[in-house]
Amino acid sequence: MKEQIYTIPVNTAFEKSRDDKSCGCPFCTMQEILQKNELDLITGASMMEPDIRIKTNEQGFCKKHYDMMLLMKNRLGIALMLESHLDEVAGKVSAKGLMPMLKGKGNAACESLKKLEESCYVCGKIEFHIDKMFECAVFLWESDPEFRKKTEAQPFFCLPHYRRFIEYAKRDMQKKNYDDFYKSVSNIENCYLTALREDVSWFCKKFDYRYADEPWYNSKDAIERATAFLNGRV
Ligand SMILES: [Zn+2]
Ligand SMILES: [Zn+2]
Repeated sequence: MKEQIYTIPVNTAFEKSRDDKSCGCPFCTMQEILQKNELDLITGASMMEPDIRIKTNEQGFCKKHYDMMLLMKNRLGIALMLESHLDEVAGKVSAKGLMPMLKGKGNAACESLKKLEESCYVCGKIEFHIDKMFECAVFLWESDPEFRKKTEAQPFFCLPHYRRFIEYAKRDMQKKNYDDFYKSVSNIENCYLTALREDVSWFCKKFDYRYADEPWYNSKDAIERATAFLNGRV
């Protein structure tokens, strides 16, 4: 099975969130690890590799990943990557040749700049692997009863990852399994959302003087948990 190299990281993230609910969405954990690995590689070992340079020249990086790279060491390496990337960008800004003439002034430039805005070398690498990890999680849920138990013991899935988990399952699972899967994960999600809404409401109430002396219960970090639930952590 091609999924097998992903079995360990998927199981590890699910076990982590099963054993410590504060770890939150297991797919966010996988994505954080992927992101760190890719950033370490691109600011280190693979920065000077010619075939990778071809890709970073073409794709560039999103703002979030430029910011994260700049917090790391190796500013010269980043400058060298920028130098050759900017050369390629210059070609897109003032596109020459037949196509730009046929498409009308500025149109070809806008097309290739829009493509550049939407591409990021690190995001692309993360997406390549997380896609396989979703496939692997769906495969494990269908084939390994232990993994079903691990899934049932998850605290929640952030909304973007919840949606993707369901979409991959719907695409890849047998209908009968999918129905059971959906029942299980939507139950996790609804329970967490109910508790989260109560925590956020209690957080709001605590600003009312009548509740000032009441305990915080589980609501002190309700805002942080709500945003991690809504958008994920990565
Ligand atoms: Zn997530
Ligand atoms: Zn990115």
